[in-house]
Amino acid sequence: MDKITKTEEEWKKDLTPEQYVILREKGTEPAFTGKYVDNHEDGTYTCAACGLQLFGSDTKFDSNSGWPSFTDPVNLENVELKEDNEFGMKRTEVTCKRCGSHLGHVFDDGPQDKGGKRYCINSCALNFEK
Ligand code: FE
Repeated sequence: MDKITKTEEEWKKDLTPEQYVILREKGTEPAFTGKYVDNHEDGTYTCAACGLQLFGSDTKFDSNSGWPSFTDPVNLENVELKEDNEFGMKRTEVTCKRCGSHLGHVFDDGPQDKGGKRYCINSCALNFEK
């Protein structure tokens, strides 16, 4: 996969201020505020920064966490997982493999019958295509 690299100035120009903070500065949108938390339509969620397909509606579930939650990415090759020890918490960060943007974190408290993962992703980091 060809990586997408841009300068910070280019990212600032191409993203909204809210998207920039989340995608490029590892921000987190407040719980229950994102536009896709309760979206139950069939479709595909893509990276808001580069358009890469990331998650399918068939793996989305209601976690009551306040953020869109998925059991799996559309393809493990499309995301990169990184150890994140910020704020004294041991977490696993999820980033877009193509553009390196921060998407959210993955936790081990997902549905057991579907592999046990919970990809907890900011709505702001996603676009939705029906
Ligand atoms: Fe991306």
